[in-house]
Amino acid sequence: MKKILVLLGPPGAGKGTVGSILSKEWELPLISSGDILRENLKKETEIGIKAKKYVESGELVPDEIVMEMIEKELSNFIYNAGFIMDGFPRTIEQAKMFDKLTDSNDIKVIYLKADDDFLVKRLSLRRVCENCGKIYHLVNIPPVKEGICDVCGGKLIQRVDDREDVVRRRLKVYKEQTAPLIKYYKEKNILFMVNGEENLKNTLSEIKKITEW
Ligand code: ADP
Ligand code: ZN
Repeated sequence: MKKILVLLGPPGAGKGTVGSILSKEWELPLISSGDILRENLKKETEIGIKAKKYVESGELVPDEIVMEMIEKELSNFIYNAGFIMDGFPRTIEQAKMFDKLTDSNDIKVIYLKADDDFLVKRLSLRRVCENCGKIYHLVNIPPVKEGICDVCGGKLIQRVDDREDVVRRRLKVYKEQTAPLIKYYKEKNILFMVNGEENLKNTLSEIKKITEW
């Protein structure tokens, strides 16, 4: 049996942080659609050029672009034993496509739940390493040396889309286009809700209880 963990939830709920920790502990590769897109933006690939205006304004990148990107990624053999998915699927259309590529018996969807005001506050304190993408929080997960990544020494920056106006936009987009997936996966009986406002340790232990992998 494959182990596929899908992390679902609003921006800032902790999908990226939780995903990268579990990926190491479980030795399962992590697929982050946001990271792949940002990588493409940086390298100015064809996908990057098409996606830039959406990512920077907090809109979703059109389904065709993201689906092609994910399908290509999933064709890599390293995902044969399973994987953790952060940021995909994000629309019903994407979920239907994902259904065709996977067996729902292999999937557990973790819905990380958190309120808007909490998320806006948390994202304003988020910093990421410009070089390796590691995620920090100025209060809860600060780097050892201010402004510098513990792992690679890269510079810590604030993502353009973590500015408050863009965050509000992303939350609206989430509610309109992504939140319907909660019902979609509930009906398939593979949705598990976890409180995303908890500290990291509690959130992780909740997820481990649910998955028992
Ligand atoms: P967050 O989950 O905190 O919003 P991500 O890094 O997952 O941040 O995504 C950043 C941006 O990348 C999104 O606002 C969107 O523009 C784009 N993106 C990521 N994943 C998808 C997806 N599955 N479909 C469409 N756009 C996406
Ligand atoms: Zn780094």
